[in-house]
Amino acid sequence: MATRLPLLPLLWIAVAAVSAAALRWLGLDWPAALSRGMAAGFLVVLLMGVATLLIGRLYRATPVCKNGCCREKDFELVDFREPDPAGDVELHYRCACGVHWLHRGRIFYEVREDGRRVPYRKWVGLWWVAVPESKDG
Ligand SMILES: [Zn+2]
Repeated sequence: MATRLPLLPLLWIAVAAVSAAALRWLGLDWPAALSRGMAAGFLVVLLMGVATLLIGRLYRATPVCKNGCCREKDFELVDFREPDPAGDVELHYRCACGVHWLHRGRIFYEVREDGRRVPYRKWVGLWWVAVPESKDG
């Protein structure tokens, strides 16, 4: 997010300039057009800032673990595999309870002791949703 911050003042100036020019063209005098343009620019920047913060809060790289105790910060990335022929990167995590997890495509799997991958959560829109207990495999 820090890399986006320098863009915000520029965006404000750009929106303010365009709005002021448009308002001036609509017949307002310059002081009124400028102040309203600045206000419009500020509003746009504010909305974008709020949207960025909201997305940052909603987005979770990992779901809560099956024991309900581990959140994103408790998951440690332990392995990373290059994309397979299907183009999916495999991200292996271990949570604080020691469960082995695999994030591949839109699915978050629990990897059992015997290496079986059991789908746990699926990324849908903005959330991790439960995957119905599927048949073994
Ligand atoms: Zn855990």
